[in-house]
Amino acid sequence: MKLYKIKKSKIDNKGRGLYASKDIKEGSKIINYIGKIITNKQVDESDKYDNGKPIYLFTLNKKYTMDGDFSWNTAGLINHSCDPNSQYDGIGLKIWITAIKDIKKGEEITCDYGFGFDKDYKQFPCKCRAKNCCGYIVREESRWRINKKFAMKNKKKLVNNSK
Ligand SMILES: [Zn+2]
Repeated sequence: MKLYKIKKSKIDNKGRGLYASKDIKEGSKIINYIGKIITNKQVDESDKYDNGKPIYLFTLNKKYTMDGDFSWNTAGLINHSCDPNSQYDGIGLKIWITAIKDIKKGEEITCDYGFGFDKDYKQFPCKCRAKNCCGYIVREESRWRINKKFAMKNKKKLVNNSK
């Protein structure tokens, strides 16, 4: 029995997501993230990968990248959350979605997309509704940059209000 089923997502209201079809234990492999293996050189040289859909690209190692931008890649439906219950695990040239928490039947399966923080971060708003959501899809290690921006804005407001 598969550990997931495809349903309309609560996070991405235009799209679908994967949901746990039964209770999943922390550490379980849920689904394979599949795609086409290309060389990192191809990524650098092809227009297709020019900021179009970075969501689907995974660097596997120094030489290869997985392009998961295909309709047959069911794991590509997994949505980002700032408080994810799963992660992408690269094992050799394979990528597994592994549970990093116990997941209850019916919960949406989520991962941290791991986007870096750059000038384009505003293109990818996050609607995960986690308590720690920073408002954009940015990997955990870089979120402080956004939080800092928010904090600065609020600080300015406070200063203005006190005048
Ligand atoms: Zn979020």
